[in-house]
Amino acid sequence: MQVVSTKADLKKALAAASAGKYGASSAHGEKLDKRALVMTMGALHSGHLALVKEAQKLAAQVVLSIYVNPLQFGPGEDYEKYPRQLEADLQLLSEQEVDVVFAPTDEEVYPREPQVRIDPGPAAKLFEGKTRPGHFAGVLQVVQKVLQLTQPDYAFFGEKDAQQLALVKAMVEDLNMPVEIKAVPIARAGDGVALSSRNSYLSPAARTEATLLYRALQAGASLAQQGEKAPAIAQAAAAVLQNSSLIKIDYVEVVEDSTFLPAAANFQGAARIILAAWVEDTRLIDNLAIEIK
Ligand code: AMP
Repeated sequence: MQVVSTKADLKKALAAASAGKYGASSAHGEKLDKRALVMTMGALHSGHLALVKEAQKLAAQVVLSIYVNPLQFGPGEDYEKYPRQLEADLQLLSEQEVDVVFAPTDEEVYPREPQVRIDPGPAAKLFEGKTRPGHFAGVLQVVQKVLQLTQPDYAFFGEKDAQQLALVKAMVEDLNMPVEIKAVPIARAGDGVALSSRNSYLSPAARTEATLLYRALQAGASLAQQGEKAPAIAQAAAAVLQNSSLIKIDYVEVVEDSTFLPAAANFQGAARIILAAWVEDTRLIDNLAIEIK
């Protein structure tokens, strides 16, 4: 595993990894002459490793980036306190057959204030983008940059950040970017809580209360199974969270899976319950795919 922090060293490491790996065969004999990218902000956990494992299935070369992108944090958010633990991350990755880790500095990623910016469009103003103005413009800026620098065949994103995934897919489609975006299901702890680097902020009481987020999603999903429509599903999910004095809801919505826009009251088909809530002082997000009959 090569760990690099500059664009120049990244280029060399990618070339070296390609020379060593391209043309290699998998255990099943097929040629895996592909490169996959997993982008992270570090503080790695099994959710990130799930992305790495999926990447390894499709590609001979796996590149993982670790960068806490200042552009996607708004004023008053947790940019300063976001966990940074590169040594522990590298230790975890050393057991994972990742070929290249790109962990750049701010100066390397943004040598100047970027003048050319990506407009993530109207869908970025809803949900996460409503509470966190500018968040998705910042996300797409860094995703675009790291894709350009690493030139992967595939890039893997978690369904945990479902709106981010939808917007990255939209960017790749609208700009004809030569990469295939792959979605990976949410990795959860045994009690259902979606794994997140931000879970480290939770007090023991808040960590217990955070289980209500997944229970809220399940309550909504069970109404969907009974044939209820989007408004009743969202209401049932919200009701679970409203019971808790430690939880403050930001949003609970049902969106159409294909557009990530709010599902109409009579919508039928593939949908997703999405929610964000503060558990004590920590803002968590979660979601669950459902089928509305
Ligand atoms: P982050 O480091 O939080 O920016 O996450 C990096 C990537 O890992 C994103 O594509 C996330 O959606 C994904 N990810 C984070 N947590 C999980 C999880 N619990 N399950 C699946 N993917 C995740």
